[in-house]
Amino acid sequence: MEETRIHWADVIARATEGLQVIATGITPSGNIHVGNMREVVTADAIFRAIKDVGKAARLIYVADSYDPLRTVYPFLPTSYKEYVGMPLSEIPDPFGCCSSYAEHYLKPFSESLSQLDIHLEVYHADQMYKSGQYTDAIKVALEQRDAIAEIIETVSKRKLPSWWSPFNPLCEQCKRISAAHIVEHMAARNSVKYICQCGAEGVADYSIGQGKLAWRIDWPARWKILGVTIEPFGKDHAVSGGSYDTGQRISREVYGYAPPTPVPYGHIHLKGRGKMSSSKGVTITISEMLESAPADVLRYMIIKTKPEKLIDFDPGLGLLTLVDEFDHGSGRAFELSRISEQGCDVPFKHMVTAIQIASNCDELIQVLKRSGYETTDVRALKKRAYNVRNWLDRFAPEFVKFKVQPSLPVQVKTLNNGQRKALAKLAIAVETDSNDPEWLHNEVYTISEEEGIDSKDTFKAIYISLLAKTSGPRAGWFLTSLNPEFVIARFKEAAMDGL
Ligand SMILES: [Zn+2]
Ligand SMILES: [Zn+2]
Repeated sequence: MEETRIHWADVIARATEGLQVIATGITPSGNIHVGNMREVVTADAIFRAIKDVGKAARLIYVADSYDPLRTVYPFLPTSYKEYVGMPLSEIPDPFGCCSSYAEHYLKPFSESLSQLDIHLEVYHADQMYKSGQYTDAIKVALEQRDAIAEIIETVSKRKLPSWWSPFNPLCEQCKRISAAHIVEHMAARNSVKYICQCGAEGVADYSIGQGKLAWRIDWPARWKILGVTIEPFGKDHAVSGGSYDTGQRISREVYGYAPPTPVPYGHIHLKGRGKMSSSKGVTITISEMLESAPADVLRYMIIKTKPEKLIDFDPGLGLLTLVDEFDHGSGRAFELSRISEQGCDVPFKHMVTAIQIASNCDELIQVLKRSGYETTDVRALKKRAYNVRNWLDRFAPEFVKFKVQPSLPVQVKTLNNGQRKALAKLAIAVETDSNDPEWLHNEVYTISEEEGIDSKDTFKAIYISLLAKTSGPRAGWFLTSLNPEFVIARFKEAAMDGL
């Protein structure tokens, strides 16, 4: 990437004037996955860029906790059929551990946010409705029902039924928020009369949360209520005739509010599996990913990419490459991705090797010391080790996995004379200096040349005698990580075997 080009977040930041309110919002209807992470990280990059030019900004998050449950998702018990249509904040936690369905999915998301070093003001839509923050917006919407319907019909080119209303009352009887038709608006009492599909008739007071605006109106109403000036959102809302198109007209014409600067972003695909979707089970949750990868690297993956571009995320080898890129990083994307928590000096890739050599934490520290790494910050070290362990268990391709063999592998029988001689010489090299990975690595080439064999065969001999497989981590660094006495004894044993 060219460093001279202005970063996309700076482009947005430089165009702003006055206090900026950057809004994000995710519906807590299921696991909040890595795809959803793009919204908050994009918003945070803009937030930081604005503050970097010395301007004022707020970063907010609205949890759409008052959205109705749309369907019984595959991860829900079938008994949840009875809750379809009810607001997520009013449905019990399907796992029984939190105060509501919405809270169950918001809790791990909030924890992930602090790990990503994203600190935002949180609003819960259900509380905004219940506390009356939406009262005026609902009243205006009901009064201007026809104007709103016309905007939606014109812009989205779809016909609305005659009973359509921008406001959905909450039925007192069946507790659903999407099944009642309004028969009368009593503006002076902030109330509507409704008839519900369940047969109930009643009155809903919209100043205390007995109902909510339909999404296409809810969104522009929220812009005005919270003073939103910039909002990143999924590209699907940005399509022609989509909710941003109708939203900006409703905002201007109904609420008299200039719509926020849109920042549409593309999806994050899971390599080989397509678009991430928690309802379809194609998903890695943010918390899961944060267990297996450094938080700053995940930020970097999003920040280095222009928002409108799709990200094809490969949590296996791709992640390893990304970590490497970040570790050698410079430039604005790198800067905006950094987190305040002290990172670990041991590169992720080296930890992948070290952790597979060591069988416990003390041994790990020994291994790292041997390979020349500072190990004083044990906390950061343990965090990295934990990430790498999880990555190996969940996402690593087979070929990066290995096990140092406690005794001479039978495969050593397949080595030829040239390979054996090379191992004997390597044993001497390790005896000479076991602390210089680069020198040792070059010795492999020198020795191969001396013995007149292909260096590839020497590398194979190293891995076969130590790992019982034909490939492994970069030899010089791998060998210096191991106990030198062990390596010397093993190479000598392999060189002698069968002679
Ligand atoms: Zn829970
Ligand atoms: Zn009802």
